[in-house]
Amino acid sequence: MINQWQVNSEQAYAELEFGPPVYKACVHCQSAIEIIPLLSGNPLGGTLWSDGFQETEQMPVQDLLGRCRHCNEIVSLVDLEPYPTPKVPSDNDDCSYVSLTLGDYEMLLQQLGDIAEEYHAYLRIKFWHQRNDQRRHSDTSMPLTAQEQQNLQQLLPLLDNVDAERLLKVEIYRQFGDFEQAKRVLSDPFDHRVSDVVQRLRQLVRDKNSRLEMIYSGEAARHSAAPCNATSTKPAFSGGGNDF
Ligand SMILES: [Zn+2]
Repeated sequence: MINQWQVNSEQAYAELEFGPPVYKACVHCQSAIEIIPLLSGNPLGGTLWSDGFQETEQMPVQDLLGRCRHCNEIVSLVDLEPYPTPKVPSDNDDCSYVSLTLGDYEMLLQQLGDIAEEYHAYLRIKFWHQRNDQRRHSDTSMPLTAQEQQNLQQLLPLLDNVDAERLLKVEIYRQFGDFEQAKRVLSDPFDHRVSDVVQRLRQLVRDKNSRLEMIYSGEAARHSAAPCNATSTKPAFSGGGNDF
């Protein structure tokens, strides 16, 4: 499942390191799609938000879905087969994938095709994060729209009981203004490595604050949690419902 609040490990302190480009074959047009694997990186520092989104130059986003530059179709990057013949990077042939937009996530959730079935929670979290982007650097309070509320309501039952996903549940209840329910989820024990995040969320719940808030900015404490992109994990379920 998606692990937005992955607990830090010793590996997290390694320098940022990328592997050589890997070429995969587009399932639609068989063209090469270049993927630059992040071998290791430092997820500390940057800015961590209460919805689990992290802004950091040190840990570039590693997407699960992208758009093929050649045929413009959306593909599951992690499921692609290797490109059959050896390929050398070339300036004249840009094989990088195009990152999906908010409109893409919205469209995939509405269509509920194969990709939406496989990546249901991922799509809803991406949609949530992208809609929250307008709030990250704004002093103006922006209430959740009906569409955002519906998205979060549908995300809730898709979340598991591991710490990372329980923290997302807390945040959803908090953003709904359901502080009692948020408190209830927070009352269960969490791993000590996410204690900074838990304490901050507890404080926000006590303050009856339902706004998106920053958890930390800059270097995080060594034992605190940091979100991590879902490069090696993917939703292990398929969701239903078509009323996004
Ligand atoms: Zn293609």
